[in-house]
Amino acid sequence: MTNKPQYQVVIVGAGIGGLTLASICRRLSLSYTILERLPSLTPAGAAISLSPQALSVLDQLGLYSALKAVAQPMTRIRVSQNGKLWNELDWTICEKIYGYPVVTVERAKLMQILYAAAGKEKVQLGCAVQDVVEDAENESVSVHLADGRILSASIVVGADGIRSAVRRTLARETGNANAGNTIKFTKRVHMSGWSHPLPGLGEKELGVANWLFYDDSVMMTFGGRDNRQWFIAIRECEEIPDKDRSVWVGVTPGMIKEVHGEKEHPFAKKTGKLGEIVDQAERVLATNIFAEYAYPPMAVSRVALVGDAAHSMSPWFGQGGTACIEDAAELGNTLYSIFSESQKVKEALQAYRSRREKRTQEIAKFSADFGRLYSAQLPYGLGGIVRGLLFGYVPSNIWLWWLKWLYGYQPILRGLDVSGSEVDK
Ligand SMILES: Cc1cc2nc3c(=O)[nH]c(=O)nc-3n(C[C@H](O)[C@H](O)[C@H](O)COP(=O)(O)OP(=O)(O)OC[C@H]3O[C@@H](n4cnc5c(N)ncnc54)[C@H](O)[C@@H]3O)c2cc1C
Repeated sequence: MTNKPQYQVVIVGAGIGGLTLASICRRLSLSYTILERLPSLTPAGAAISLSPQALSVLDQLGLYSALKAVAQPMTRIRVSQNGKLWNELDWTICEKIYGYPVVTVERAKLMQILYAAAGKEKVQLGCAVQDVVEDAENESVSVHLADGRILSASIVVGADGIRSAVRRTLARETGNANAGNTIKFTKRVHMSGWSHPLPGLGEKELGVANWLFYDDSVMMTFGGRDNRQWFIAIRECEEIPDKDRSVWVGVTPGMIKEVHGEKEHPFAKKTGKLGEIVDQAERVLATNIFAEYAYPPMAVSRVALVGDAAHSMSPWFGQGGTACIEDAAELGNTLYSIFSESQKVKEALQAYRSRREKRTQEIAKFSADFGRLYSAQLPYGLGGIVRGLLFGYVPSNIWLWWLKWLYGYQPILRGLDVSGSEVDK
């Protein structure tokens, strides 16, 4: 006789991917829990931009109004080189074409929305998962926690980020070296921060992003609500103390100013320098940038991966979090087909795997290629010329037409009542 598993779904990790999937499980009335190793949910990053595909999913989950109340749609992108304006792109047409804008939102605010939607009582904090073992006899998976407990589920989802423990266990199960953690340092360091509302800016600057190219580095700033600025500067840096860590410890505004403070910024109304915006920072951050050099299978038997656990990607086009939300939507549909339409677990998860691997690897490649263009790293010294042509002359409607493959991918969540959402209109 087989023992019935405790849960239909156990999700490991309460980041963007895990919480989005949990909120889908909740709407599908599945039995689920989320295991998070940290004692509280405190997102490391400053802010995040979400693209139309992600907003379409959040809308179907009934979360779009809450998000709109704290997010700022991107209105324009101003592209400059060494302080000289090259081009200005109208990004308001994104919403007209794809139904949703690109928005910038403080990470902590996004996480609060997702945490509530996932069901706070379903999130078990301070629970580090150490191992995941298939139990063929009971048609389930055992999840081993650091505190000695063992939980069981029909399906386990690894949403545990760039150094995923679940992914490591897949490597052992499959004997596939690529299923282990295969991230490499890209020799690039990102420094960023989230500012208070900037004095001297008004309505016409709301939602304006600045993409700024300098001789030795690149920078992007995105306008948040009330003209807060999310600033990100990226620079090549080989000699760093700890290449294996993601987040630098003890970063201060002074450190960022030392590296990037003298760069021109059009929103620094007094001095014209980025340092003035860094002085307005509520919080700052620095991380090493990693990328995958091989990808794991996104599902093996009864275990699936979502988000960075499956495909960490460089942040150049801001798609990692959006890809987590796409994964969650597709996996949510897979769970619906398993638990409401009696599809076989392993077959359904393999179908999820084949749908998602191609798409997410395309997005990761696009992000890396975009980074090479953005930071003018092309062979034969062509980088500066190609970057100048692309960013200086291509108008917004061509950019947005070209991005159809990315922004136009908007999965419909099955088994949910979406009346009242934008999708319904
Ligand atoms: C500088 C930078 C800028 C970015 N900008 C953007 C952007 O603008 N737009 C965008 O879409 N994306 C962006 N991204 C990418 C995005 O932040 C990530 O893709 C996304 O946050 C990954 O979410 P996740 O849920 O997969 O993983 P995570 O957010 O890493 O969550 C994983 C969770 O699992 C927990 N965990 C780990 N191990 C265990 C364990 N063994 N047991 C239990 N819990 C565990 C962790 O504590 C964590 O809470 C950016 C990334 C960086 C670095």
